[in-house]
Amino acid sequence: MQGMMMQMPLRIIEILDYAATAHPKGEIVSQRTEGDIHRQTYKDTYKRTAQLAHGLESLGVGMGTRVATLAWNGYRHFELYYAISGMGAVCHTINPRLSAEQMLYIIGHAQDKVLCVDLTFVPIIEALAEHLPEDLQLVVMTDRAHMPDSALDLLCYEDLLDGQADSYDWPLVDENTAASLCYTSGTTGHPKGALYSHRSTVLHALFISVTLPKSLNEGGRILPVVPMFHVNSWGLPYAAPLVGASLVMPGPKLDGPSLYQLMEAEQVTASWGVPTVWLGLRAEVEAQGKPPEALSQLVIGGSAAPRAMIDFFERQGVDVCHAWGMTEMSPVGTHAQVPAGMDLSFDERVSLKATQGRRVFGVEMKINDEDGNALPQDGTAMGELFVRGNAIISGYFNNPEASEKAFASEGWFGTGDVASISADGFLTIQDRSKDLIKSGGEWISSIDLENIAMAHPKVANCAVIAVSHPKWEERPLLVVVPKDGGPTLEEVHALMLEHVAKWQLPDAMEFVDDLPLTATGKVSKLTLRQRFDGYELP
Ligand code: ADP
Repeated sequence: MQGMMMQMPLRIIEILDYAATAHPKGEIVSQRTEGDIHRQTYKDTYKRTAQLAHGLESLGVGMGTRVATLAWNGYRHFELYYAISGMGAVCHTINPRLSAEQMLYIIGHAQDKVLCVDLTFVPIIEALAEHLPEDLQLVVMTDRAHMPDSALDLLCYEDLLDGQADSYDWPLVDENTAASLCYTSGTTGHPKGALYSHRSTVLHALFISVTLPKSLNEGGRILPVVPMFHVNSWGLPYAAPLVGASLVMPGPKLDGPSLYQLMEAEQVTASWGVPTVWLGLRAEVEAQGKPPEALSQLVIGGSAAPRAMIDFFERQGVDVCHAWGMTEMSPVGTHAQVPAGMDLSFDERVSLKATQGRRVFGVEMKINDEDGNALPQDGTAMGELFVRGNAIISGYFNNPEASEKAFASEGWFGTGDVASISADGFLTIQDRSKDLIKSGGEWISSIDLENIAMAHPKVANCAVIAVSHPKWEERPLLVVVPKDGGPTLEEVHALMLEHVAKWQLPDAMEFVDDLPLTATGKVSKLTLRQRFDGYELP
């Protein structure tokens, strides 16, 4: 028997329509590339989004048109998200840290027709100009007064809105219609596109809203450090207006002191980002002797949150939620908050938060051995992690080869992560399969060793990578950004021996000034492995 309920398509524009009326005081505060701070309510944002849709229509944008953005977190980028998908077009966010070659590849692969760029990224476009498709229209996200001098034919964002009607007849698109497109950073081969739908986006926003109420609540003030070009800022531009939280957009200012100052000035209650950005905030909190006044939660994801980082912020009274996810999962998969009713000591709480945590609603997980057999979820067995759910890709955009590889287990997406899952459902990511160190037929987790080394007071940052070994195939090398002269290898070994077996200890340690980062701000192990290729172990 069928239920007798109305069926309305889940559409992204409904989130903003709802926020404009239900949360009239909700606002977007933006650090603009022009230099000043700008404020705008969701109500006014909805009107401007309608004006923008009219403007985009005048450029020929319609159902299915790919409109790209190359921009920081800010209100104009937010308006583009909603206007583009609201019209039935596809918002393709481009990561400005990609190489020129990768950028041109994805612009061509996505068949973008319009590219909207922040002022600061105009030089990138000028450098690429002669290789860009001839029919690509360029819009600079600023007003007439700030339009740059350029030999290129550039349109002005505010001119597109000027004089347009502030309401728009948003089409009743099918909920499975494509809404946005984000390419993975593609450390091997070409970047691969995750093509999100209206349905997956709205559901993901609901899933994270019920899972992370400490960040996502009416009246909350969230600062997404995670860029809008990195998996739609982990869903915050959708979830925040949905629940009635304001967004505080940092623009290009992502260093510790700038973030701290903006958090103080705007009474930010929660902030989300990758571990590398929190190193900067941590240093500023140490310098100031206290955390930003209203800050109550930090969400740390994108790569493993070091235990020492969780320990630091928790001691400052800031709740840390460690989260795991992937571009292919919209992205949030798990969160490591302490389950209600669990009575833990401070140390136990920090240890639990150093795992990747429990699944969010809408995500199923399993681990398989190399032959594709399901492994027990007992906290010990380790295997490749597979996931399925309504906000997880069913294939890569126009890439059958990569899709086939990722869906080797029928109906499940292969994450490429090696993990264990405890009997009570806590996920521990051991490593990306390509980062695991294979020593004499046994695996060593680089994440485990990094976690311990990061707790040494003379380690500012570190990474562990595999280097070739004639007898053991691979052995771990510890690469350290030192603080106060850095530790000795013996000191690090002594610390590690409290947690791991002797054969897992790094064979050597090297000091570097900086660790290379990927386009999404994570430590690039690939670049490090290339840098230490042929390294002679003692
Ligand atoms: P990119 O490769 O572009 O950075 P993603 O952001 O999709 O793409 O990266 C997803 C991967 O990042 C995961 O498969 C996992 O290896 C790693 N990752 C994300 N969050 C965590 C976490 N909390 N702990 C450990 N690894 C993580």
